[in-house]
Amino acid sequence: MSEVMVLGAGMVGVATALALQAAGRSVLLIDRGEPGRETSYGNAGIIQAEAVEPYALPRDLGALLSIALRRDNAVSYHLDALPSHMGVLWRYFRASAPGRHREISQVYAALVQRSTADHAPLIAAAVAEALIRRDGLRTAARAEAPFAAQVADAERLARDYGVAISVMDGEALAAAEPGLRLRFAGAIHWHDAWACSDPGALVGAYADLFRARGGTVDTGDAMTLEQAGAGWRLGQHSAQDVVVALGPWSPVLLRRFGYHIPMLRKRGYHRHFTGGASLNVPMMDTSIATVLAPMRAGLRVLTGAELARPNAAATPRQLARSEAGAREILDLGTPLEAQPWVGNRPCMPDMLPLVGAAPRHRGLWFHFGHGHQGFTLGPTTAALLAEEMVGGRQPMSALSPSRLAV
Ligand SMILES: Cc1cc2nc3c(=O)[nH]c(=O)nc-3n(C[C@H](O)[C@H](O)[C@H](O)COP(=O)(O)OP(=O)(O)OC[C@H]3O[C@@H](n4cnc5c(N)ncnc54)[C@H](O)[C@@H]3O)c2cc1C
Repeated sequence: MSEVMVLGAGMVGVATALALQAAGRSVLLIDRGEPGRETSYGNAGIIQAEAVEPYALPRDLGALLSIALRRDNAVSYHLDALPSHMGVLWRYFRASAPGRHREISQVYAALVQRSTADHAPLIAAAVAEALIRRDGLRTAARAEAPFAAQVADAERLARDYGVAISVMDGEALAAAEPGLRLRFAGAIHWHDAWACSDPGALVGAYADLFRARGGTVDTGDAMTLEQAGAGWRLGQHSAQDVVVALGPWSPVLLRRFGYHIPMLRKRGYHRHFTGGASLNVPMMDTSIATVLAPMRAGLRVLTGAELARPNAAATPRQLARSEAGAREILDLGTPLEAQPWVGNRPCMPDMLPLVGAAPRHRGLWFHFGHGHQGFTLGPTTAALLAEEMVGGRQPMSALSPSRLAV
């Protein structure tokens, strides 16, 4: 019998297994598939130490109208999904009020700003340096007015949080990225971010490290979890404690134990392109709300958020707009996959992950809801969870699951 079972081997679950193992626990990591093949595979691979403020829901009428009319490629939705999302959207809207968002950002900044330091020893021990670049991320704007607004906001973040930025004009960006064929108004270079050229492979390397240090990884269906005496059982495995790190699937399991988790699953799409031009550094083209991330497999083109019912068919409309927009700025080449990848960002309405003890079950721990930055934050919140599970003290009460009264 292991002391702890960790359910889910995405970035969050694998990092949890490593942190608990480092704290002296015997850990079993369970996934229905190979580690790092779901959301932690399909993201932009950016370890976002610059993302000090989580994405708020816009509150001004113009921006909301632009979303409603699907003018803005950043957000899309299925009409039939809206009724089931209203409650959680309302909570998200309230948490996005400027004062509340500022408070949340204080917590968020403290997490993301230590993220690269928390990844660094794992990258080294997992011999994964070849996957990592430490030369930042750029956000670029095509027109002067939005660029000026973005510069003002970046300068605010630099002032308030110490985020390292450089402002580049169109000429400097063209010199740094010779593959671009369109002249941008300019770009902000965010120096604190690191980029991974194969996010799934990094999670796989972390899982191999966990195994090499004596941990066990097995396959199993988390939905068969049951209480057994003072502990927990899943198939032939049992443990004193169990950590739910199932990313966007966590609420489905927890409903069986009476928890109603208000998660907003923001869908995103990606597709790789090969045979054309690429970029030296990942770049978000803000005019089409599209991230272009150079990966080992090709240039990964990624979209913003789509609200859909959990099992609704993929509707890659945003990706079509992203692809058309990307073709305006560089020679994109040809798509690698026949069908785009689709996955869900597991977002909590107050933009903070749930990290800590389940409110009503002994030995049950929550570790999910990392939204737009779970690839970044996995090792950081894993260290906090291990501190609570081993040390008995919740280091950051703002992350406690009991705050949501689930
Ligand atoms: C388009 C897009 C771009 C993104 N870009 C970035 C970025 O650049 N930087 C960043 O930090 N974050 C980014 N994110 C967010 C990030 O990818 C997620 O927050 C993160 O991957 C969540 O990790 P996780 O381990 O919680 O979930 P997952 O990686 O989804 O892991 C959950 C695991 O649970 C397993 N599982 C599910 N059901 C069962 C079951 N019944 N039994 C057993 N196992 C099960 C799955 O197989 C999976 O391995 C992006 C997300 C998207 C969609």
